[in-house]
Amino acid sequence: MEDIIIIDSVTKKYGKLIALDNVSLRVKKGEIMALVGPNGAGKSTLIKTSLGLLKRDSGKVLLFGKDPFFDPNARRSVGVIFERPSLPVSMPILEFLTHVSKIYNKDSKIIREVIELVGLKGKENTPFSQLSAGQRQRAAIAHALISEPELIIADEPTSNLDPVERNKILDLFTKINKENQLTIIISSHVLHELLRVSNKIAILKSGKILKVGTPDDIVKNVSIARIRCKNPLKIKENLEKIGFSLNAEGDNLYVKTESNEKTSLLLNVLSQEIKNGEQIYGIELIEPGIEEILEG
Ligand code: ADP
Repeated sequence: MEDIIIIDSVTKKYGKLIALDNVSLRVKKGEIMALVGPNGAGKSTLIKTSLGLLKRDSGKVLLFGKDPFFDPNARRSVGVIFERPSLPVSMPILEFLTHVSKIYNKDSKIIREVIELVGLKGKENTPFSQLSAGQRQRAAIAHALISEPELIIADEPTSNLDPVERNKILDLFTKINKENQLTIIISSHVLHELLRVSNKIAILKSGKILKVGTPDDIVKNVSIARIRCKNPLKIKENLEKIGFSLNAEGDNLYVKTESNEKTSLLLNVLSQEIKNGEQIYGIELIEPGIEEILEG
């Protein structure tokens, strides 16, 4: 499959701070690539460097086969969405998108299609300032789609949204990827929400890419059980004695298991605790977070 972006041994410094440390990554046509890492990991710097908006200190970047720092034409087929979109506040969405479509020489038909696709039908005459946070993000996605790009890059598009809206926006990216065959790059500091929607995940920390793989590769061999119980400290002690590593937070215990056998052992031990009269209110297997993946 064709490489849309090639990032080869890129280092980017801000003064003495190394924001990207010898980073290499490829994004293939049609992929949804997730860039996941804690705040300050270098996700935005990687995005800006890939777009040629920041000068790298060393390494190679090719976007659609061109170096975007020296050739802005490389960005022609890219739509970019930022965390807090800032479109003209008092202009109705339809009017704004009409201006944008003229800049790109696009037919007005595309505006209606895009408004429908992002779910803003009925809000065409609402000014940007009167839209909810989720609707603003939809307007930003519409803005990015008007030029009919081949690649969409969204930098933390969900971080300002509530959980329901986060999922809806991620579903929208999946739909755009499937229906319009767009390549998509999404960054986030929350791993689990991107496990569901991406085909590839790159995990960044302190300017380095620590893991790249499919969602299955990334979470393979790491699972977390959350246990709600009356006496977490007592159960914690019993589980630690037989080699489990776990954290207690309030009534919850978080237990890491590296294999099905370990999960099965955990459930057997908990079953015995229940038989012995311990109060266990709930046991749930949850997706691991970035820290557990990196330790695992
Ligand atoms: P992320 O997007 O993962 O939160 P960033 O790429 O924004 O990470 O930042 C990576 C590191 O570079 C952080 O330590 C951040 O403080 C630093 N940084 C980002 N932008 C600048 C800048 N313009 N000047 C100096 N340091 C910066």
